[in-house]
Amino acid sequence: MSHDFYDVIVVGAGPAGSCTAYGLSSRGFKVAVLEQKEAPGIDTCCTGIVSSGCFDSFGVAPEVISNKARSAKLFSPSGKSLRLEKKGIQAYIVDRASFDQAIAAKAMAAGADYFFSLPATDIVIDSDGVQVETPHSAFKTRAVVIAAGFKPGFTRKLGLGSIDHFAMGAQSVVEVQGVEEVEIYFSQEMAPGFFGWLVPISNGEALAGVFATSHAKFYLEKLLSSPFCREKIVRRDTEIKKRAIPLKTLPRTFRNRLLVIGDAAGQVKTTTGGGIYFGNLGSQAAVEVLSEALDTGNLGAKQLFRYQKAWKAKMGREIHLGYMARRLYGKLSDSQIERIFDIVSSHNIAGALLDSPSFSFDWHGNLILAFMRSVWNYLPGKISSVFRREIDSINISGRQGA
Ligand SMILES: Cc1cc2nc3c(=O)[nH]c(=O)nc-3n(C[C@H](O)[C@H](O)[C@H](O)COP(=O)(O)OP(=O)(O)OC[C@H]3O[C@@H](n4cnc5c(N)ncnc54)[C@H](O)[C@@H]3O)c2cc1C
Repeated sequence: MSHDFYDVIVVGAGPAGSCTAYGLSSRGFKVAVLEQKEAPGIDTCCTGIVSSGCFDSFGVAPEVISNKARSAKLFSPSGKSLRLEKKGIQAYIVDRASFDQAIAAKAMAAGADYFFSLPATDIVIDSDGVQVETPHSAFKTRAVVIAAGFKPGFTRKLGLGSIDHFAMGAQSVVEVQGVEEVEIYFSQEMAPGFFGWLVPISNGEALAGVFATSHAKFYLEKLLSSPFCREKIVRRDTEIKKRAIPLKTLPRTFRNRLLVIGDAAGQVKTTTGGGIYFGNLGSQAAVEVLSEALDTGNLGAKQLFRYQKAWKAKMGREIHLGYMARRLYGKLSDSQIERIFDIVSSHNIAGALLDSPSFSFDWHGNLILAFMRSVWNYLPGKISSVFRREIDSINISGRQGA
């Protein structure tokens, strides 16, 4: 079967892929999106928390929002809680299927063609163009954008390397009682290296999830039957979805006629595992650079390198700082986490940080540094020196532009 010739084929109709398709179609380019599922966003394992600013930047209708968050309760390993609240709505919880479909609808309205239930199986690039293979047909195009989520196979095969640091996420829908705000659980026994959560959505339901270094499903089961959650869960869905999130960036996110964006490129906030906002920023950089390259007909690697330069300048430091903070957190024992909770509570450190200029829902680098500087003086010698060493290494690699 033969298809039209396209300026750009986007592989993957997640938020990053559809934003790119929208941006390029709006500029008059002929774009096709290949999506392996029957529709965007279905069966996606994601909590869908985005800042209000991030949500607005997508320009989709508020019907996709299933709840709004003004506050969050953080729980220490022993169950002590710390409530964070800031004036106004801080975040929206979007229903991923509706959200992804709304962005795809915008791209379609701008002229992009969508092909569902059609996985890209191979990408062959030569100096004249690109061929994107699917099970029964092939597409010819001038350029290709990989927005297929965290799936190292494609990028490795195309000589771009792969991301070998990642975390596993698992999530399930549960019916809850008495859970009115976002709850986050810190415990190396329940969510090693990361955290667990209950996020109320609507009609008494919540998303229960865990990020962990591995075996996320096992840890989610453990969390759900722990004292953190046991009393709050009225009914459980049997299905637990799971998915990996990248913690580092892909070594190379471009080559001739090709860009990699979103989770596929490692454009994820390593502090929270959120990738919708950074994927959107990556897609904006991709649209800028690719539009110019398509206009001038120069789709060489040197030209497209500008994409990697642009997105790394925006979020490279953030991803790196988040990764360092996560590595440091992974070294703490539950009793050390407990101690940090006590310090934060007794010195009102959380309140001070929330009110400080370092606070941003989407940008955590300065907050991480401010947090570490606030707590280290109160910490016992051993952890304090780990914090100091880590800050030194962050400062050094930050200066080197990591
Ligand atoms: C448990 C969990 C909770 C999360 N919670 C949040 C959160 O609250 N907020 C947040 O910002 N982020 C969250 N994330 C991360 C977020 O889900 C991702 O960062 C985001 O979905 C990445 O968007 P993307 O467009 O890059 O990729 P994806 O959303 O993964 O989309 C990729 C698309 O490509 C398609 N595809 C894959 N391979 C092919 C192929 N060969 N051919 C055609 N199509 C293909 C897939 O079917 C998919 O539709 C969470 C992740 C997990 C695991």
